[in-house]
Amino acid sequence: GILTVSELAKLLGKTPAEIITSLIKKGIMATINQEVDIDTANEIAFECGCEIEVEAEEEEEIEGLEIEEDKEEDLVYRSPIVTVMGHVDHGKTTLLDSIRNTNVTEKEAGGITQHIGASVVNISGKKITFLDTPGHEAFTSMRARGAQVTDIAILIVAADDGIMPQTVEAINHAKAAQVPIIVAINKIDKPAANPDRVKQELSEHGLLVEDWGGDIISVPVSAKQNENIDTLLEMILLVAEMEELKANPNRKATGIVIEGELDKGRGPVATVVVQNGTLKVGDPVVVGSTYGKVRAMLDDKGKNVKKAGPATPVEILGLSDVPQAGDQFIVVGSDKIARSVSEKRKDKIRAAQMKASQKVSLDDLFQQMQEGAVKELNVIIKADVQGSAQAVKQAFEKLSDEEVAVKVIHGGVGAITESDVMLASASNAIIIGFNVRPVSGAKSLAERESVDVRTYRIIYDAIEDVKDAMTGMLEPEF
Ligand code: GDP
Repeated sequence: GILTVSELAKLLGKTPAEIITSLIKKGIMATINQEVDIDTANEIAFECGCEIEVEAEEEEEIEGLEIEEDKEEDLVYRSPIVTVMGHVDHGKTTLLDSIRNTNVTEKEAGGITQHIGASVVNISGKKITFLDTPGHEAFTSMRARGAQVTDIAILIVAADDGIMPQTVEAINHAKAAQVPIIVAINKIDKPAANPDRVKQELSEHGLLVEDWGGDIISVPVSAKQNENIDTLLEMILLVAEMEELKANPNRKATGIVIEGELDKGRGPVATVVVQNGTLKVGDPVVVGSTYGKVRAMLDDKGKNVKKAGPATPVEILGLSDVPQAGDQFIVVGSDKIARSVSEKRKDKIRAAQMKASQKVSLDDLFQQMQEGAVKELNVIIKADVQGSAQAVKQAFEKLSDEEVAVKVIHGGVGAITESDVMLASASNAIIIGFNVRPVSGAKSLAERESVDVRTYRIIYDAIEDVKDAMTGMLEPEF
């Protein structure tokens, strides 16, 4: 169990110099990046009057939770997990419905399809898993919790409407997560459809489609009239092959919760996607900070199954509590281990909450730079008019120097929203607003997520603040 002087300083709300002084008093000569053991850390915490127990941090150190690396020869192809994103009303829901319908066998067609939060589509023997909650908000809030389930993002753009603000958000959220994008140009059945204009606008946002000389695959479709959906599915499989998605089905399962709820009759129910290994009925499992034993599993067609391999979504019963979307699950060796890991995780989550302040902020940017903790300042810019968003983006990117690259990961027009805050949280970014304010939910979310949100009326002031922060000259705000 080890953490560095600077980590300990942050944890205790002290400067690294203060910690170093305490260490010297104990006869330990330390530098800022030096590691101290847990016992020493606890002694120092005690001396500072901090009521915290510094615990062994690494997950792997919790007994029973060791996750072995897979050997190359054990890995086999797994099917892709896909999310649909795009502007409201551009056809996300219709596309998902149409994809599901192309795939319903006659036997199933009569029955009731029970939604479990994800669905599997079969195309000539190959499978694709679609997450049912479309949109970049769900995608990014999971990412902010450290979970990335999506392998490929389908960006849907209505051909009669073109790129809209949420299209731009979706592009930037997918880019920030480094997920490959396939563009579905939708509503081509409409007389006003203009796919070429969509391609032109995409290029303005850094997505160059194939017939424009780029490498982004775009497929014209009509979700409503089921046109060209099969081509879109083939393209997903093509991209999946290039991504070389692999997993080892012959091990204990790990994966991510995509939905959790309390069902009156069945108790806590979680929809999970297996990322590696095979999940089986009877497996003892740790899920986020809760645990249980898989009592029953239902697949996306509502059928009882005994096993679920990589990339398979299943609903599981038998947990002691309701987990959250984005929680990780891990199958462990025994019920006893599951329970004790769950206890330890609860403690860990408490510790993590104390550490939330480790996110980047202008106030401690310089310090974090000095410690080598920050090499890149990610910024999200929201402004009242497009012109100033653009101007600020350019001015900011010019501030980059040898020590820190300033990177505007998203810029847009309008108030600061919850989605902006989640993107900032997931990408360790700060948010800068010009003549705009956070919507009320965004403000409290920013506090919870420790995201630094600053609003300005004058561009010059913002530039000065960032410059000052980069050189350690920023006066703290009171
Ligand atoms: P979402 O908000 O992105 O989920 O969009 P929806 O799937 O709810 O679609 C919004 C509207 O566009 C609905 O009225 C759909 O019927 C319509 N729509 C979706 N796809 C198409 C399409 O390919 N062609 C036409 N003409 N309308 C579509």
